[in-house]
This record gives sequence, C-alpha cells and structure tokens, in this order.
Amino acid sequence: MTSAGKPRAAKQFAWDRMLIGGRWVEATGGRTYEIPNPATEEIIGHAPDASREDMRVAIEAARRAFEEGAWRRSTPRDRARVLHAIADAMEARKEEMRELLIAEAGACWVSHDTQVEWPIRHFRTYADLAIRFPFEQMLPAPTIQSPMGSWNNTSMVHNAPVGVCGLIPTWNFPVFVLAQKIGPALATGNTMIVKPSPYGPLVNLWVAKLIEEVADLPPGVINWVTGQGAEIGQELVSNPAVDKISFTGSIVVGRQILAAAVDRLRRVHLELGGKSAHILLDGDNLDMAAPALAAPTFFHSGQGCAMGTRVLVPKAIADEAVEKMAAFVGNRDIVKIGNPSDPSCLMGPVVREERRLAIEAHIESGIRQGAKLVTGGKRPAGLGAGYFLEPTIFADVDNRLKIAQEEIFGPVVTVTPYSDVDEAIRIANDSDYGLAAMITGTDQVKAVEIARQLRTGNVWINAGGNLANAPFGGFKLSGIGREGGVWGMQEFTEVQHIVWRS
Ligand code: NAD
Repeated sequence: MTSAGKPRAAKQFAWDRMLIGGRWVEATGGRTYEIPNPATEEIIGHAPDASREDMRVAIEAARRAFEEGAWRRSTPRDRARVLHAIADAMEARKEEMRELLIAEAGACWVSHDTQVEWPIRHFRTYADLAIRFPFEQMLPAPTIQSPMGSWNNTSMVHNAPVGVCGLIPTWNFPVFVLAQKIGPALATGNTMIVKPSPYGPLVNLWVAKLIEEVADLPPGVINWVTGQGAEIGQELVSNPAVDKISFTGSIVVGRQILAAAVDRLRRVHLELGGKSAHILLDGDNLDMAAPALAAPTFFHSGQGCAMGTRVLVPKAIADEAVEKMAAFVGNRDIVKIGNPSDPSCLMGPVVREERRLAIEAHIESGIRQGAKLVTGGKRPAGLGAGYFLEPTIFADVDNRLKIAQEEIFGPVVTVTPYSDVDEAIRIANDSDYGLAAMITGTDQVKAVEIARQLRTGNVWINAGGNLANAPFGGFKLSGIGREGGVWGMQEFTEVQHIVWRS
C-alpha cells in the first residue's frame, strides 16, 4: 500500500527522471508523485514532480539549443527523417503505448483509432509537410520608381521558426494532442519544453524515451518537465526566454496564459473547450443515428473537446429520438461499462475522482433547473473501485440552462427540440464556444448550407473525422489558432520578408 492508502498494481511504470538538456535528471530533491489507474484506483507508477527551478533549467536548455542553431539550421529532409523515425518507432511499439493509454488514460479499445493510430498518422503527415511546406517563397516584385532612380527587386518570404516553444498538451487523448504540437514544432525547426498534464506523465515520458532513442536530436531540442503543481506551467508561460506557448486545455487556464503573454507579446496558440451542437435533420434512419447522437455519453466517457454534447432534434420526432438514444446506451450488452483493459468494454471511467465530482455537480444542477433526466446520472452498480459514471441523457433541455451552456467534459448529453432549421442554427450558435458541430441527415446539400452558417471551427456531416492535413481549432472562446496540416505548421513560424535590389 502507498502513503495514500491505495493498492499498487502488479505492473509498475516507474519514472524517476525526466529529459532535460539531453540528460535524464531527477526533479529537485528527487521528488516523484504517484499515478492511479482510473479504472481500478491502483497506483500504476510514479513520475518526477518538478519544481519551478527544474522548469527554468529546461527553458535554458531549450534556449541554448535554439541559439546554437543545429536544429534550426537542419534541412527539411533531416527533419522529415526524424519525424518518420518517430512514426516508425511508434508503429513498431504501439502495443506498449496502448497498454499505457489503457492504464493511465482509461482509454477503451473503441477509442484506440484516435488514441493510438492518429498520432502515428500525424507524425507522418508532419514529416511530409517538413518537405512540402513553403519555407521560402519568391514573390513577384515590381520595379521601384523613386526620385533616386529606378531599380528591380527580388522579393522572398521566409517562414522562420518561432524559437523556444512551451507545449502544454492535455490528458484525454494524450499522444494525439502531443503529436499535434511536437510534429509541427519539430518540422519547422523550433526547440521546445513539453509540460504534460499532471494526470498523464507516464505515456509522455514513454514518448520522450522513444524519441530520444530513434531521433538523434541535438541536446535540448525537446525537454520534458513533469509534475503535479501549477507553478511549473506558470513558469513556462511567463519566462521571458519562451517565445511561444501552445496550450490545450480549459478556458480558465487559457485566459491565464494569455494574460501572462501580454508583457512580452508572446505568441499564444490556444485549443480550448467545446459545447458542440449535433443537429439531427430528419427521422430517416433513426436507428442508425441514435448511437451517433448518444456517443458522447459513452465514448471515452465524454472526455473530448469536440463531442456533440448538445443534441438538437426536430420537435416532431424528439420523443422517438430520445427513446432510441436511451435504449442504446441503456443496453449493457452493447454499452458495457468496465475496465478498458477488457476489449469488450465500450465505456471506461473518467480520469480522476475530482472530475467525477465536478460532473456529478453538473448533473445535479440539470435536475435542479428542471431538465428531464431520461437515463443515467448515477455511478454504475457493482464495479467497486474506479471513477465510473453511467451514460446520462437529459431531454427537453432549454438551451439557456447551465448543462447546455457549460462544458461538462463527462458522459452527459442534453437533447433540445427545435421547430425549424433556422431555430436549430440559432440554438447551435447560442454558445460561448465554437469548436465543432455535427449534422446528421439525408440531404447533404442542405447540411453543407447549414454548416456555412454555424460559428464553429469544424463541422462534421454524417460522421466525418479529424484529418491530419486539415485545420482543427475553435471560433469564440474555443481558442485561437489552428492545429493540423499547413495551418499547424504556420503556427510555429514567424513570417519574414527579405527583399534585395537586383
Ligand atoms: P486545464 O485547463 O485544467 O489544463 C491544465 C494544464 O494547465 C495542466 O497541465 C496544468 O498544470 C496547467 N496549468 C494550470 N494553471 C496554469 C497556469 N496558470 N499557467 C500555465 N499552465 C497552467 O485542462 P485539462 O483538464 O488538461 O483539459 C481539459 C480541457 O481541455 C477541456 O476544457 C477540453 O475541452 C480541453 N481540450 C481541448 C482540446 C482542443 O483541441 N480544443 C482537446 C482536448 C481537450
């Protein structure tokens, strides 16, 4: 047993050191902290618990590596080789990665395409982009006519690396989010410090080791600082030696990061929360549509930023739609809840007890404000340990209620009836968030027309998905900037114009 009284899992993932300046070092005083498996509450390992001073050392290492310039001046081909090597190693060792994602992030097999395959795909896309991205472009340059005479110019746009980047990924799809940051940051020649979420250091350190083994990067190009306190993040976002922050997380912390950036006008890229609408257009194929509409109540326990947690349905078929959604998620032969290590489980736990309590507070607020709880709302019986919750659906929800306006980040969906498409668009846009929207229906032309009117960074019609070569990010409070494809590359470059008389 540990000091916290939690039992230990038989297999331990023990990391006493993190990678700073090309060396594996302990946190100040050799401090570590323990990581539970959210499905069993057993301790599965520990990671270094860094101090502010450890973060300063890592920032200095990244600064030094940038100024020395070996990576900054590497060729696109060198960078592509490194990124392909990372993808190849992940592919070869993906069963180890899967094991960690199950044990640390509570990732059920149904989510493994996103958890395991997407990061590999994204590293490969950034390897290709390292070659194809227009780091230097010639522009047409007219002859200058001036009182001093006339002359011809040659004009070039150079996309230079931003410099030292602070990367703060999140824990829900940890390697995927990491790939969206490290991939373009490396492809464009930056140096970086990765500060993983306190909930997910183990898989991050596994990635750190894998990259160290296969990439042959100069020391200090990627530094990893793990820990449970907010002060290491605060140091990273306020230290004057850091040129850019790329953050994925909540609006609350996103605002703090933006505030800390004001002094130095530090570049900030924010991937924040969502409260996405899923608009059902018609009652055709309702049996097929119901599982997709209800997906956020079980898929990764609703812990996704871009899930369609506000379902909007035509009034005439609202009761039928809710009935079919509830029947699907209530069927324990299909939506089996349990330890994600069992491949037959479709739904695992939420990541920590504090998150479960916050989700339960949202559910209580929905009940208090008069929303109709159709199914779920409780902890499932018979599971013993683990931070589990039932798939939860509220019906007849007024979009002004707290449960329809605030991100819950748990297995809860609200269903709101609408009278006509204009009303559906109005309700969908009546949100502080603007990350994504989904549309399900048979009329694709109509769906695309509706998509154009939605104030969100992404719209998925009849499924769709996150594509490695496409932009991903939010309107409004869902963030600033885009990840993915050339847009992700641009986030990690400064645009420089060079013109010379020719
Ligand atoms: P969070 O905002 O709680 O993030 C916490 C991270 O910020 C931790 O690493 C923490 O140590 C650090 N931190 C805390 N205070 C800080 C400060 N003042 N300065 C710098 N760093 C600080 O979010 P979370 O729990 O990690 O993630 C959940 C959120 O992430 C949800 O809102 C979800 O929607 C969002 N998310 C967004 C996307 C996207 O791509 N848009 C993807 C996944 C998750």
